[in-house]
Amino acid sequence: MHPTLADDLSRLPEVLRSARDFAAREVSGLDDRPVARPGKAPDPEPLPSEGVGAEGALARFAERWAPGFSGSAGPRYLGFVTGGATPASLTGDWLAGAFDQNASGSGGSSAAALQRETLGWLRELFGLSAAHSGAFVTGATVSNTVGLAIAREWVGERRGVSVSREGVAALGPFDVLSGSPHSSVTKALSVLGIGRDRLRAVPVLAGNREAVDVGQLAAALEALGGAPAVVVANAGTVNTVDFDDLRAIVALKERYDFWLHVDAAFGAFAALSPEHAHLVEGLDAADSVCVDLHKWLNVPYDAAVQFTRRQDLQVRVFHNASPYLGLPTGDPDFLHLTPENSQRLRALPAWFSLAAYGSAGHREIVERNVALARRLGERIAGTGQLRLLAPVRLNVVCFTLAGEPTQERVHAVARAVADSGEAFVTPTVYDGTHGLRAAFSNWRTSEADTDRVFEALSTAAGALS
Ligand SMILES: *Cc1c(COP(=O)(O)O)cnc(C)c1O
Repeated sequence: MHPTLADDLSRLPEVLRSARDFAAREVSGLDDRPVARPGKAPDPEPLPSEGVGAEGALARFAERWAPGFSGSAGPRYLGFVTGGATPASLTGDWLAGAFDQNASGSGGSSAAALQRETLGWLRELFGLSAAHSGAFVTGATVSNTVGLAIAREWVGERRGVSVSREGVAALGPFDVLSGSPHSSVTKALSVLGIGRDRLRAVPVLAGNREAVDVGQLAAALEALGGAPAVVVANAGTVNTVDFDDLRAIVALKERYDFWLHVDAAFGAFAALSPEHAHLVEGLDAADSVCVDLHKWLNVPYDAAVQFTRRQDLQVRVFHNASPYLGLPTGDPDFLHLTPENSQRLRALPAWFSLAAYGSAGHREIVERNVALARRLGERIAGTGQLRLLAPVRLNVVCFTLAGEPTQERVHAVARAVADSGEAFVTPTVYDGTHGLRAAFSNWRTSEADTDRVFEALSTAAGALS
């Protein structure tokens, strides 16, 4: 064994304790560190031939890299839809690394069974029935990709073509209909050989809405003359958290032949709040569902789930049969369900957070985030410098400058807020207007944080004129 490695082995408990102490300092300092670090990153250094050992590496990381990391795990980082890591989920994440299980199958470990238990908990959390089977993936983009891959196989089934065997060229083109799809859906269509151009935009409802007009969707399906299609419904759009009327879309299945995929990346969490659960009624009737976990569940990055009612088609697409692994039967191993073969025990952070806080604890996070989004929305509506672009429907506030909202001015506000270190929000374009989004999904965010975000925004907007 290399002497440095041998030394680390002999001091393993101390090494882990140093990492723990460092992480504890950093994570408890999240409230005080600048929320964003727009500065320049260090220049790359050459690969060392002789290393410095784990504690030496920790010291270098602490000196060279950690200072430039953002406070994105903290309470006032409201860009994109981010979320943080609950204490329990961070614990689970560390232990996933420490135990280093391969959750691809059940060979010699109960890790895959823990993954199944967690999927059952998540299914219950989002109000899905046992007709849905689940699998873990790295994020909602891959979850959407897997769902649409199953959809593609379903279109093949309808046309008497096995896409997984004959290829997508044997299938020929088909349409994917959606109102306000996330950008990851077009990426998935490209990856899957369906083609970005096959996405047919269906008009959304009039009056500041991003939800699909179900009447227009019916007309678009009618125009297909019975050809099987895929509908991507959106449960929680990123700009204004609008929800398609899932029940009305499900009702269209009686008249038209389509696969219903629902992108509920963070919108699925509406199910946790009795006041908002109606927004995801009908979700269970979807053929495939995408939910992110590294957003509103507040587990560290690299976690999402994919649910489907047609695991048989999923196995046709993703099975990894070889003589020594055997053909998937019964309850297939996870390597037969997603692009990954070997895989991290991605369930463990979610398992820890759900075991630690239960559905009630996670409901509290969701409801608090929604209340804080409303609070920021009210403050924005009450100032002369900013105005809302849409009502605050759930956990995102979409707003712009009261004065001329040019791209330049709006981006200048986003930059000034980031430079202040107080908060982080991301620019967007909503209905042709440049604006900003503040997305609440972090478990730590408080009323005081929200007021600090508002102060940072109004200072930046006030400095413009
Ligand atoms: C974030 C998001 C995605 C993509 O998620 P990643 O985890 O970044 O891959 C897809 N759809 C919606 C609605 C999202 O909010």
